[in-house]
Amino acid sequence: MAHALRNFYDLTRSDLLALAVRWGFSPVHAARLWSYVYPGGLENWSEMTELPARFRMKAEGELHFGRLPVATGRQSTDGFTHKYLLSLADDRRIETVLMRYTGRVTACISSQAGCAMGCVFCATGQMGFVRHLTPGEIVAQAIHVDTILRTRDGAGALARPTGRSPHDRHERLRNIVLMGMGEPLHNYDSVMTAVDILCDPAGLALGGRKITLSTVGVVPGIVRLADEARTVNLAVSLHGATQEERAALVPVAKKWPLDDLMDACRYYIRKRERRIFYEWTLIEGKNDSEENARAVGRLLQGQFAQVNLIPLNPTAGFSGVPAGRETARRFQQVLAEHGLPSTVRQRRGIDIAAGCGQLATAR
Ligand code: SF4
Repeated sequence: MAHALRNFYDLTRSDLLALAVRWGFSPVHAARLWSYVYPGGLENWSEMTELPARFRMKAEGELHFGRLPVATGRQSTDGFTHKYLLSLADDRRIETVLMRYTGRVTACISSQAGCAMGCVFCATGQMGFVRHLTPGEIVAQAIHVDTILRTRDGAGALARPTGRSPHDRHERLRNIVLMGMGEPLHNYDSVMTAVDILCDPAGLALGGRKITLSTVGVVPGIVRLADEARTVNLAVSLHGATQEERAALVPVAKKWPLDDLMDACRYYIRKRERRIFYEWTLIEGKNDSEENARAVGRLLQGQFAQVNLIPLNPTAGFSGVPAGRETARRFQQVLAEHGLPSTVRQRRGIDIAAGCGQLATAR
């Protein structure tokens, strides 16, 4: 029986160097191979002409490049958002979103197929958990978006809010949010390996500060993140400022209550000396009142924090309605009175169900 090839994208640079040594080759060859792929973008072995033939043959016999084929791609009517349904090797599907904002492109990447957390307003939560993604499947989503940017393959018509010429061929992916399908801290090891690969200074060299990881409040993961040295941004989905209100929207709050979550967040801020971004989905009549805003203000007062308000995006399984612009503005005012900076998230890709909480696939 032929042995299974390993996915190159699962490997960190030090994994690859160790593998080369195990095969009886110099790590120098592995370092050269790494630079062909990251940031060179090469996957064709025959083009890696500086690799010794014996090493190249060995690597080709052991490794493959686990790209994720596009099952479907859709573009929003404003042209700023592309959503890709990508196929995994076992025929599962995940979604990845490319979003253009003024002066930057952000990839919204999935960490799991489906999600076990069951947030009531989220289409991914409504579909349930399918499986964790491997590091390579997470990295491959970033490579997919980066390739589109570099080659304009399929994104030539993608609109630009302002600025650069559509003929500028040197754009690369610099911003990633792990806010696609799945709870990243429920798949901690794979996500962090992927982050290490993406941030490797001898590769894509993404800045940790350009990667934002969004959790619904997996307390042990937040504590672990605080204890480790990565510089990724942390976003915590709050949605309710009392245990009862939060647990009604985010069932995982029953496992990790609000008090424990706040302890973990304060620990993270202290230990990492980093701000936390709190996400608050604004649902009309549910959590969008001035009293709700005051409760958030009291809860977070004194923390090094920012609140990102996200007017609810529609999903088939939840009947809530997004709060209006004026309500969001009043909510912001109250937060400001408590010394809390806030933003209202630009709504993007709603017409193609690419907004926050809208990603889902048939299993
Ligand atoms: S909001 Fe995030 S954590 Fe909650 S169900 Fe959706 S994907 Fe999972």
